[in-house]
Amino acid sequence: PNGNGNYEVTMIPGDGIGPEISQSVQRVFSAAKAPIEWETADVTPVLRNGRTVIPDEALHSVQKNTIALKGPLATPIGKGHVSMNLTLRRTFNLYANVRPCKSIVGYKTPYDNVNTVLIRENTEGEYSGIEHEVVDGVVQSIKLITKPASERCARFAFEYARSSGRNHVTAVHKANIMKLSDGLFLSACQELAQQYPDVKFDEILLDRACLQITQDPVNFNNTVMVMPNLYGDILSDMCAGLIGGLGLTPSGNIGRDASIFESVHGTAPDIAGQDKANPTALLLSAVMMLRHMRLNEYADKIENAVLSTIAEGKVLTGDLGGNSTNTAFTDAIISHL
Ligand code: NAD
Repeated sequence: PNGNGNYEVTMIPGDGIGPEISQSVQRVFSAAKAPIEWETADVTPVLRNGRTVIPDEALHSVQKNTIALKGPLATPIGKGHVSMNLTLRRTFNLYANVRPCKSIVGYKTPYDNVNTVLIRENTEGEYSGIEHEVVDGVVQSIKLITKPASERCARFAFEYARSSGRNHVTAVHKANIMKLSDGLFLSACQELAQQYPDVKFDEILLDRACLQITQDPVNFNNTVMVMPNLYGDILSDMCAGLIGGLGLTPSGNIGRDASIFESVHGTAPDIAGQDKANPTALLLSAVMMLRHMRLNEYADKIENAVLSTIAEGKVLTGDLGGNSTNTAFTDAIISHL
């Protein structure tokens, strides 16, 4: 904490509805008296030597604070622009993506009891970007798996399982087919399991996991699923679908040099600037951030206020089936604190 007893955190409001939902988070945090001081950073790309880069001030802010909360960023379409999300991931070595998927009472989906966490290796695997054409009509895409990256992701999964009280890690893989690559990822998980005897460990094939989780998500309650990059990309969106879609799903990017928490949805250009956005996903991402900082008391208080506002069903934004504004919804959350 700084001299005022507060922790400094970088806030990247983002584009579209980003500034509206960021403001909502700031209002709720100050009403909850959470010991956070926000340092706002603009990551609108600037051109340097013909390349688009993140402004230095924003980078320095995240480097200094090592924790950031980020709204959605519009990905510029067209050549010559690198995705800012990708740049942040590379700059800060964000090696694990964490997505809790928990049913939200008051928001009905075909499944009532989803309560799982997915951890996705975020730096390599099928997303290494190593592709080439061998001869005309034949291409190769290389899936790169390394022991250090697998180990640090697996270690984070075991630590997360322990600190969240889940005490169960499930490795999701296709080592039956990709014997070397997924085999290495799996063996890294198995080796780490030896170091965490208090955490239950098991493994499941990706296809079997998809079948079982859609038949009955309770099969995966209280476990932390850990997996290589592509599987995590797909399975985490599938699990978000089980609880009602991307609009309610928080996430965290855990890194070597910083950790960045963000909502999973985009900039919602269709409703931007109209006070209609639902701030829940960013609020729940901010709650994850508080837990990461071991400020659990504030995390619980804010999470309970958000969830009880939704469960009560009186003041809801349009996407949740209500007709309240973001401002009114945020006021209702504050009144539940
Ligand atoms: P989107 O998530 O922005 O919107 C999809 C639909 O969901 C829209 O109808 C929108 O109104 C609604 N929606 C999303 N979030 C909402 C919220 N909080 N409250 C209420 N309604 C919400 O997806 P899109 O339209 O495909 O993408 C728009 C832009 O966002 C693109 O530029 C895309 O590249 C970018 N994007 C950024 C991120 C990120 O920064 N992490 C993620 C996805 C998309």
